[in-house]
Amino acid sequence: MTIKTLTEPTINIEPELCKGCGLCIEACPPDVIKFHEKFNSKGYHYAYYIGENCTGCGVCFYACPEPEAIAVYKKGAEVAEEVIDG
Ligand code: SF4
Ligand code: SF4
Repeated sequence: MTIKTLTEPTINIEPELCKGCGLCIEACPPDVIKFHEKFNSKGYHYAYYIGENCTGCGVCFYACPEPEAIAVYKKGAEVAEEVIDG
């Protein structure tokens, strides 16, 4: 497992926990979350982070009704490379 110290804020969305409601997409101030063209195993178009310009504000986390679908990481956080989008 590779640990990365983040040089900018980021988020991770777990595709299998996303129900495709779009609330995070509507809520994100800089508009950096989109629907993926693929479906998850439950048949939902899941949301994903486009990989840049997240401010780490946490609005998406609070907007999401699915527990643990979204994780927000601040700049300087140490995170396993495998668990971050973008
Ligand atoms: S933390 Fe804020 S800026 Fe980053 S993806 Fe979520 S809503 Fe958007
Ligand atoms: S708010 Fe949560 S469940 Fe809804 S699209 Fe975003 S990540 Fe998926």
